[in-house]
Order: sequence, then C-alpha cells, then structure tokens
Amino acid sequence: TYEWSKDVKKTLNDVFRIDSFRPKQLSAINSTLAGQHAIIVMPTGAGKSLCYQLPALVKPGLTIVISPLISLMEDQVRSLKNRNIQAMLMTSTSPKDETLKALNVLKDKNTKIKLLYVTPERLAKSKRFMSNLQKCYAEGRLQRIAIDEVHCCSQWGHDFRPDYRYLGILSNMFPKTPILGLTATATSHVLTDVQKILNIPGCLVIKSTFNRPNLYYKILEKPTSQEECLTILEKLLKNRYKRESGIIYTNSIKDSEELAQGLRKRGLSVGCYHANMEAESRSNVHLKWHEKSYQAIVATVAFGMGIDKPDVRFVIHHTISKSMENYYQESGRAGRDGKRAECLTLYRMQDVFKISTMVFSAVGSIDHLYGIVKYCLNGTLCRRQLIAQHFDEDWGDTDCNKMCDVCSYPNSNIREISLESHCKIL
Ligand code: ADP
Ligand code: MG
Ligand code: ZN
Repeated sequence: TYEWSKDVKKTLNDVFRIDSFRPKQLSAINSTLAGQHAIIVMPTGAGKSLCYQLPALVKPGLTIVISPLISLMEDQVRSLKNRNIQAMLMTSTSPKDETLKALNVLKDKNTKIKLLYVTPERLAKSKRFMSNLQKCYAEGRLQRIAIDEVHCCSQWGHDFRPDYRYLGILSNMFPKTPILGLTATATSHVLTDVQKILNIPGCLVIKSTFNRPNLYYKILEKPTSQEECLTILEKLLKNRYKRESGIIYTNSIKDSEELAQGLRKRGLSVGCYHANMEAESRSNVHLKWHEKSYQAIVATVAFGMGIDKPDVRFVIHHTISKSMENYYQESGRAGRDGKRAECLTLYRMQDVFKISTMVFSAVGSIDHLYGIVKYCLNGTLCRRQLIAQHFDEDWGDTDCNKMCDVCSYPNSNIREISLESHCKIL
C-alpha cells in the first residue's frame, strides 16, 4: 500500500461510485501517482479514463488532458460535472470567454478546476497557452499530463494526427510532471515509436489483454459483383441479424453510398457515414443508429473514435481493412456489452490490389496489408491466435471456444465451404 491508497479507494467508491477496479487500473493509478511516466494499453471500453481522472482528485494541482476529438472531451467533461468534479475544456471552437477562463485556470493558484481538457493544437500553436502552462508548472501546480489516444503520435498507428507530434516537447519543458499516455493500440512497434516521439524512452508500459472472448471471427469469400455482395448483406441483415445493430465497413466513399442505397432498395433501414458528409448529417446518422431507427451504418473508417454503443451485434467488413491493427479496432466495436457478437470479413484478392494502390505512399503500409491478407487466407490456425501473435501476446491457454470459423469446422477446408452454406451455418 501507498500513502494515497486509502484516498484512492475512497474516491473510487464515493465519487465514481464504482466498487472495484478492473484489471490493471490500480497499478496504472499507483505508478502515475508515484510520479512515473507510463503508457497504459487497454482495449476500448476497458476503463482507461479512470486512470487519470481518479489521480487528478487524489493529489493537489491540475491535470491536463490532451485528447484528439472535441466530442470525446465534451462527453467526459459532462460526465465529470455530473459527479461534481470540476473540469473544463478548451478547444479551437470554444467561445472567447471560455478560452479566457481556461487560460486563467492555468494562472490561478486558487482554482477549483482539477482537469483541463485541451486539443493538441493548443500546445502546438498557442503561445499564450504554453506560457501560462509554464507558469502553472513553475508554481508546482502541474500535477499530471494525460495524453489520450496516444498512438495518434505515430505514423505506424491507425490514426496519425500531425499535431500530436508537438507533444514531444512536454517531457523536456516539464521534467517533474509525470506523463500518462493511454491507447488501445497494442503493437510493440507503435508503442516504441510513441515513447520515442514523447521523449520518454523505456517508460513503464502497463498492458491488459486484448483477447475478446465474446467476438466470433469469420472470413467469407467475397463475390465479384456488387449485386451478389448486396444479396449476402441483405440475407444477413434480414435473417441472422434481424432487429440487431451493426456496422458494415467498406473502404471508399463511393462504395459506402452505393451499398447503403442498394440495401435501402431491398427494404432495409441503413445509414451511410463518411468523411465527405457535413458534421451535422454525420451526427444525425449516428443518432438514428443509436436509437435503432437504423439497423446498420454503412461506413468508411471515418466512422471510428467515439462510438460507444454497447450492443453492436455485428461488424461486417465488405472490404478488408488496411491492416490488422485497423481490423482489430474496427471489429472491436462489436460486443462491448460482453455478449456474443460477430465479426465477418468478405475477402477477395482483387480488393488487396485495390487497397495496395491506395495505401502505397504511407509508411510500412504494404507490410500492414500483408498482415491482414495472411489473416484472411489462413484456413488452419485459430483466428484468435493470429490476432494474439499480431499484438505480441500469448493467448495460448485461452480457449477459442469455437468462437472462430477455423475452430468451428476443424476438419474441413473452410475455404471450400460455399458462401451460401456459410450464411446458413453461421
Ligand atoms: P476506454 O477509454 O478504455 O475506452 P472508458 O474510460 O471510456 O474506456 O470507460 C468505459 C466505461 O467503463 C465507462 O462507462 C466507465 O465508467 C466504466 N468503468 C471504468 N472503470 C470501471 C470499473 N472499475 N468498474 C466499472 N465500470 C468501470
Ligand atoms: Mg478512452
Ligand atoms: Zn479459434
């Protein structure tokens, strides 16, 4: 136990109204309270936010939280305020008086604010913010810097944000302040890169398992014509996934619009989501899906961070993801409630060529693509094992429990089972 252990437990119960910690949360909290730099790696939904929100209340001073998405910050600040925790946010779209208030929080010794959420470009581009932050540090009030979605630093990750590159100056400018990075990206390659960019090489990495025992993984052979693809999707949505919510991922805006339209023609209620849509219609689609007036969203990868629907029962990849990393994140949006959910991928060689020309310019992208192709072509190894290997984890003792197509049909060549029967057996 530590000097803060009693307060930690009390804050957990009284403020957050949670009985007990989930795996690795307490060790993450203890190491950051002990002043160590650390990176916390846990799957989405595992409870990473608590690892900086709780320490913020246990010690005096201010916690800065850097987050890439304004909507994520708004959600967090709202839920903190509901718990009577003093928090605020400062973004490029904040009204002027809010921005001034936030800047004052940094200067004010008597501020009641415990957590201040900012976007990375505040650090990158606002001199005023940085000089106030420097002052806060000099007065010994900068308790901790939490960097959410910290993989955004790395080009090797699935969601690179150029502004995250600037965060490298923090460990030099504020050497006494512990940095706490948080991510659901588990590849050691990305983690090493992140440590290098943040200038905290060899820092503590606390990682929980990425196995998702309630997700069923399956590959289907993808037909050549779009019409036939639509027929499969129609069958799945009308029968197997009747009255259930899901996501259909594809890799182009054109495909997402075509598929959504095709499915609507076949009497299904689906929305479409991609980066070329106005923010307002995007959140409208999201809402309709949330309240179940849409059964599925046909989306490009633009539909990603900030999805917090627990009862997503299926994630279908109409086109393969561009890496295993992306696939894990995208398929991982299924089954957050812990109940069985299914992750299907329609695979054909043609799509590999299509994607390879698209991703050609990005670093290491062909290697990444190769990883997902290997996963799809595999017909003998448990798919869960392949995912574990990819994340440098050993799930050797974890039984798949027939939760992948390979383990469900151990004695047949699964690539020879026809599509039609796949749809039925599933
Ligand atoms: P992540 O950032 O890892 O995706 P969040 O921090 O958003 O996950 O937490 C997901 C949900 O889990 C939240 O609703 C949070 O309140 C809840 N949660 C976190 N820790 C615990 C816990 N120890 N016990 C119960 N619920 C928890
Ligand atoms: Mg999170
Ligand atoms: Zn298996």
